[in-house]
Amino acid sequence: MADLRGGIDLGGTKIQTAIVDSDGKVVGEARHPTPTDGGPEDVAAAMATALREAAKDAGVASSELAGIGVGSPGDADEKTGVVSSARNLPEWEGSFPLGEKLTEALGAEVKIGNDVQVATEAEFELGAGKEFESLLGVFWGTGVGGGLILGGKPWLGRGAAGEIGHMVVKRGGALCPCGRRGCLEAYAGRKAMEAEARERHGKGEKTDLFKLMEKHEKPRLTSGIWERALDHEDKLAKELIERAVEALGTGIASAINLIDVGAVILGGGLGIRFGERLMEPLTKEMDKHLFVNERPPAIRVASLGDLGGAIGASLLIS
Ligand SMILES: [Zn+2]
Repeated sequence: MADLRGGIDLGGTKIQTAIVDSDGKVVGEARHPTPTDGGPEDVAAAMATALREAAKDAGVASSELAGIGVGSPGDADEKTGVVSSARNLPEWEGSFPLGEKLTEALGAEVKIGNDVQVATEAEFELGAGKEFESLLGVFWGTGVGGGLILGGKPWLGRGAAGEIGHMVVKRGGALCPCGRRGCLEAYAGRKAMEAEARERHGKGEKTDLFKLMEKHEKPRLTSGIWERALDHEDKLAKELIERAVEALGTGIASAINLIDVGAVILGGGLGIRFGERLMEPLTKEMDKHLFVNERPPAIRVASLGDLGGAIGASLLIS
């Protein structure tokens, strides 16, 4: 069974795990919610449980795997397996030896990488980006993450490349969750969009967004709630999505002006849900800002869906 690899995608709301064979096919999977309290130890324990479940689903023990890759938020050190400042996870401001803890718990080699970068690599190797040499992955969800493949190889810069969510689309603009102003994420990130909707609703603007959220018993405005609101022609939802698309078009086009890659892969919860539906307005927005607009990059919706992160993490094991 040495040809089976494990992958864990550690997200702010869920832990998705997969067992992947040498052809990139998923042969087992499991998903658990990310613990909302406790600390890194509890998150690591939940990750180990979910991975064991996926292994069982594939008919193996975790110790029989060739290795296990992890796509982690925050600052993930591939060499040491230490994860620092994973701020969207409970009590994870400092550093935690995630790789070491998981190796102990699962009895297999564990490698840690950046969540968005491994998801980009999965789309490049096995998904919507297969036919391209160079691409930009844009993961439109709670925040807006990005990953880069240049000339067939991941480009990490000095470790922080690809942060397209913090490209400035408006100087002195809206406040971003990162504390700066005018970032793409301040307009397009799900978290920022929800904050804006809440504020405007509080000031008396009409919207069904929060009614829909309660009706469907969601703790936040999920991509599904935004979609329902759009289907109901909710004015505020429509306006905020249009504003997000405008910011995305501006930020992505600026990135393309710099790196001129052949493709943009649009993933993430909102990206996967709205990619096809918003392709036309997004393309139009980009066209306004592309310096060379006779041959715009191909825009593809990520094809590995929710499993992309876990599959990409498994690719960390060679
Ligand atoms: Zn920012």
